[in-house]
Amino acid sequence: MPASEARRLKQWDHGYIWHPFTQMKDWVKDEPLIIDSAEGIYLNGIDGNIYMDGVSSLWVNVHGHRHAHIDAALKKQIDKLSHSTLLGLSNTPAVRLARCLVKIAPKGLAKVFYSDNGSTAVEIAIKMAYQYWQNTGNFKKTQIVHLSNSYHGDTLGSVSVGGIDLFHKVYRKLIFKTTTLKKHGWEAVEELEKLLKIRGNNIAALIVEPLVQGAAGMLVWPEGVLKKMRDLTLKYNVFLIADEVATGFGRTGKMFACQHEGVQPDFLCLAKGITGGYLPLAATLTTQKVFDGFLFDYKDQKTFFHGHTYTGNPLACAAALANLEIFQNERTLSKLAPKIKFLAKKLKMFYNLRSVAEVRQKGFMVGIELKGRLEDRIGAQVCQLVRKYGVILRPLGNVIVIMPPLSISVEELDYLLMATYRSIEYCVNKTQG
Ligand code: PLP
Repeated sequence: MPASEARRLKQWDHGYIWHPFTQMKDWVKDEPLIIDSAEGIYLNGIDGNIYMDGVSSLWVNVHGHRHAHIDAALKKQIDKLSHSTLLGLSNTPAVRLARCLVKIAPKGLAKVFYSDNGSTAVEIAIKMAYQYWQNTGNFKKTQIVHLSNSYHGDTLGSVSVGGIDLFHKVYRKLIFKTTTLKKHGWEAVEELEKLLKIRGNNIAALIVEPLVQGAAGMLVWPEGVLKKMRDLTLKYNVFLIADEVATGFGRTGKMFACQHEGVQPDFLCLAKGITGGYLPLAATLTTQKVFDGFLFDYKDQKTFFHGHTYTGNPLACAAALANLEIFQNERTLSKLAPKIKFLAKKLKMFYNLRSVAEVRQKGFMVGIELKGRLEDRIGAQVCQLVRKYGVILRPLGNVIVIMPPLSISVEELDYLLMATYRSIEYCVNKTQG
């Protein structure tokens, strides 16, 4: 790209875009890195540099960028139909995908409700859970329970079940009331049991990010906690909503995190990796029982009155179908297992750095927590520096997140870790010295 055009694009970015989760006062001080094309796990900047996509373009990319199979599926679909509504009509890719999702999901999930992002997938689960109890005459079951440190998205409904003060505190007066489990791990299980014993009749659902609380900094749950929580929700007749927006589609080493502990939730929220990182699409899966709780005469006004304009978009569904086919054709999950082992072995070296407080990993979800004050923004510094090695990372506060596409090779993984290690080492020395 000619230098003059690159300059113009950078000016226009500063002039016209409000970036998400970004302090724009800082943003405009630096030259923006603008991505123009990509291939495999690499992003090409208009600065002429190539960058390894170390966070899968915000946790969405699965098999690499411009994967031939997804590209072809999209091109084929474009020649047939780009959009038609699911309100009052259906479309071929949406139908096929719904069947595929039910087949690969934990047992018991039988119906698919589409939307277009993780936050809406969660809102839909919450609304369905709540309305199910209303529709079936359990009028007192209105409360939603969530964990502290939870993150389920940025719309007000999903913020209501959020527990990260930095993101959520400012909206406290705008959101609906929920019950927060204050404790973590096995202590949270005890807290849940006490709560359900006393107030189970008032609780509609428990929502969790199974096994890994991603946005909180990749907090990994102790083994067995998820299963126990499921058992308790069953015992006290409370729905379990599994938000697998981040953990779904192979991230934890299995297709879905719930499958590590044989858990069958009442709702499964999917987004991010569902299209392999190509297009916005989300799905909320639920059981026949929940579905049946909405089957009334129209005049009873118990229909699920919810739907987004682009719900079940055929292009997005075609990408998602191709994404699932690649999982099969390329045996993505079995090839991932040795890479997860390699990652676990290599991550140990980070404890050689005195600045590292903790390294957390579940499958291909990694958080390296650095010591230090939040205001030093050490995480942001490390992620800026690692670009010099041709790597893109995005931190969560002081936690460096490593979450590459599942298709990354062992050699590339090795490079990614080396670049991260050296960047942490350099930044910490600079800050302290
Ligand atoms: N749920 C979880 C567990 C997430 O990690 C995220 C996003 O990071 C969301 C929901 C929200 O997804 P989206 O950004 O697509 O609305």
